[in-house]
Amino acid sequence: PQPPQTASGSHPRGLYLLFATEMWERFSYYGMRAVLVLFLTKAMMMDKAFASKFYGGYTSLIYLTPLIGGFISDRYWGNRRSITVGGLLMAVGQFILFASASYYGPASSHQLSHWLLYAGLGAMIVGNGFFKPNISAMVGSLYSPTDTRKDAAYTIFYMGINLGSFIGNTITSLIGDTGRPGDFRWAFLACGIAMLLGTAVFNWGKSKYLHTPEGVQVGETPANSGGVNGIYALLPVLLALMLGILWLDSAMFPTIAPLLGIALIIIIFMIFSDKSLSGADVQGIMVIFIVSFFVVFFWAAFEQAPASLTFFADEQMNRTIFGITLPASIFQNLNAIFVVAGAPLMAMVWTALGKRGAEPASPVKMAMGLALLAAGYLVMCFGVHNLQPGVKVSMFFLVALYFLHSAGELCLSPIGLSLVNKLAPAKFASLLMAVWFLANAAANYLAGYMSSLYPDPKSTAPAPSVLGFHITNLYDFFMVFVVSAAVAAAILFLISGRL
Ligand code: GLN
Repeated sequence: PQPPQTASGSHPRGLYLLFATEMWERFSYYGMRAVLVLFLTKAMMMDKAFASKFYGGYTSLIYLTPLIGGFISDRYWGNRRSITVGGLLMAVGQFILFASASYYGPASSHQLSHWLLYAGLGAMIVGNGFFKPNISAMVGSLYSPTDTRKDAAYTIFYMGINLGSFIGNTITSLIGDTGRPGDFRWAFLACGIAMLLGTAVFNWGKSKYLHTPEGVQVGETPANSGGVNGIYALLPVLLALMLGILWLDSAMFPTIAPLLGIALIIIIFMIFSDKSLSGADVQGIMVIFIVSFFVVFFWAAFEQAPASLTFFADEQMNRTIFGITLPASIFQNLNAIFVVAGAPLMAMVWTALGKRGAEPASPVKMAMGLALLAAGYLVMCFGVHNLQPGVKVSMFFLVALYFLHSAGELCLSPIGLSLVNKLAPAKFASLLMAVWFLANAAANYLAGYMSSLYPDPKSTAPAPSVLGFHITNLYDFFMVFVVSAAVAAAILFLISGRL
């Protein structure tokens, strides 16, 4: 018999290896993303609307490729090989971006640099597809299925994510977002080095630390999986595909939206064509789909951070404090800071409420997350109400927004993940996790589109509108998020009892 697992036992060393690996990877992802739209508009001379859609297309594909990477690792590669290959690909992507940013300028005169930009991001999209689902899955496999320390392990892991984001974002903002367009390249170089470090740390410790409590190595290539090397031949195909989709979507016409629809239909078909599902299974699956739908409204508004909210910080906000002018991109860091500080607090609140039998159900917590998101944008609306041209807004409003958004994230993101985990029938666990990723992909796409409506006072084009609502100024723009998140929160709250 296995020794009983206790809730108070310390965590396996492997958790800290995965923590460190993910920390360096998130350094690279969030560090690059923090300065991406500024690089696109200030060095590559794209207009804000184009840069916004480009950002949305990139981040959307980032959440789409884990479907492919997860599938390949389950059948052929195992977690370890996938993480190493993914990590190396992402590092290469950052170095290509470094090359692109070393020779920057408008597409008309710097075509090569723009192609390198697409290629670099394409490599990161493919790499992330192999890396992200596998590193997250490995955390759980270090524990026996009934181990009660698993939730705590994921909380610690989430801290690693945000610590990495904080360090990466701080460094790239300080060395990249300096006001000199040539400096963005240093940010990308730092991200490439960070990604190499993460991959190296992982490979240094993997055979020593990544095993089950019984000592069985986890994440190795599945037994008798042929075709391990054949998959390498698939990599250039995937790369070309991602590069092509990104280019088509941003330069010609929306390509990613229909792709997401097709992926959804395939997943629905794969799940519901299974006749062995019980009625209770189907109900659980329906709840996952419904909740994932609401989550789209959350991330679409939340992921304005590196896009429209960074335009706002750059152009419309007073960024000087104690005589020092802070880079616009550094404000996104507030999210990571609030999450690291707030995660233990939030866990205490839920536990305290739980003891009194008053802990809200998961869908109610998620509705609260959406309400907090709406509140964040409402505060912003006060800040920009009747704003005179040329007047800059106090940074208080953006700080308050990030505070409320981070509280909302803590109500919704970890809760949603574990909800999916609990409700998914075992054999569809990864596929239903893919539904959650797909919601993120759709949301990020929408986020880019919404950011492209950021009002430009200099533009002479007619004001864009959302469902008949004209966006003529910043107040209108932020109000769209207040209304959409508040409506989504209200509906989710109303149906939460049935869910
Ligand atoms: N910040 C978390 C991460 O990077 C969650 C992001 C998300 O689900 N959109 O892993």
